[in-house]
This record gives sequence, structure tokens and C-alpha cells, in this order.
Amino acid sequence: MSSDECDYKLDYIMLSSDAIQRRVSELAMEIEREYRGKEIIVTGVLKGAAIFMADLVRRIGPSVDVRMDFIAVSSYGDLSTSSGVVKIVKDMDTYAEDKNILLVEDIMDTGLTLAYLGEIFTARAPKSVRTCVLLEKPDRKKVDTAIDYKGFTIADEFVVGYGLDYAGRWRHLPDIWNVIEKK
Ligand code: 5GP
Repeated sequence: MSSDECDYKLDYIMLSSDAIQRRVSELAMEIEREYRGKEIIVTGVLKGAAIFMADLVRRIGPSVDVRMDFIAVSSYGDLSTSSGVVKIVKDMDTYAEDKNILLVEDIMDTGLTLAYLGEIFTARAPKSVRTCVLLEKPDRKKVDTAIDYKGFTIADEFVVGYGLDYAGRWRHLPDIWNVIEKK
């Protein structure tokens, strides 16, 4: 798609790359303190969490035995309004039983996706399941899904960049932008 064919445009930077990097370092320190001497399977939800997870794991020191894995999910129905019923289109390669799983997500909107993933993972009898989410939009929350490590709380605006996309675009941007409809 060329930029002329897109109905939306970048509006303003909501979170700068510097602010994101500082917060990611803090989250990594918290995770390191919590899991020192233990193994964790850091499991990113593709594709949105890929860039966040790549930065996060590189800031966790060698005192934690970090393993990386990924899952990919697709939401049923309209992509802009999560139904909460997600299909795992690529499962993790690791056998989750008796493992410490840290699920890494880009954004929690209604919370339905993460609630559903939490149920799926808990059924696999891991030692623990925790969640690390870069952005939370509390105004849109429909279920009370707990986030163990949260980057930022943001207003109910559609954002892109740092892994987040609109129709596949803008994931590569180092800052997080708000997008608006072209007039
Ligand atoms: P939930 O089930 O929490 O409503 O949906 C979470 C998913 O919705 C995210 O993983 C993401 O794919 C999508 N999403 C929600 N809000 C935004 C947003 O502001 N920007 C982008 N790019 N995706 C979003």
C-alpha cells in the first residue's frame, strides 16, 4: 500500500523513543529482580510485541536464565473491536508445563485477548504465568485482567509504532504515534 492509499496519517508522537527505552529498562530491572536464579520463558505475542520484547530481553542480565518463544494469535471478527475469542495460529515451541511463563504483549485494550491467553496458558499447568504489557488503555477495559509489568497507561487513542501497526504499516517507527483519519 502506498501512503496515498491509506485513510489514516501519523498525527503526533505520544511516547518518544527515549521515554520508551527508559521505561523498558525499568521493567527489565523489575523482571530481573523477580526471576534472579530462575528460568523464564519470555513469550511474545506476534507481531506487535516483537520489537518491545527484543529490547526488553536484552536488558535482563545473565542472572536470569532467559529463554525466548513466540505465539501468534488471530482475533475472530472485526479487528478493531476485539471479540476476545482468539485462535492460536502459531503456538509456542516450548512445553509450558512446570515453566515460568512471561507473556509479552504490545497493548491491552479491552483485555479480552490477554484474559483468553491467560486461560489457555493456565490450563497447561505452568509453574507461573505473568504478563508484561507495554501499553494499557484503561478506558476500554471490559475484563479485569491483571498486568504484572506495565509500561505506560495511555488514553483511548489509536497508536502505532514500536511494533504496533495500522494495516501492517508503521511497526518499524522507534516512537509511538497517535494516528488520525485523513480529511
Ligand atoms: P484487546 O483484546 O485487549 O481488546 O486487544 C488487544 C489487541 O488489539 C492488541 O494486541 C492490538 O493488536 C489491538 N489494539 C488495540 N488497541 C490498539 C492500538 O491503539 N493500536 C494498535 N496498533 N493496535 C491496537
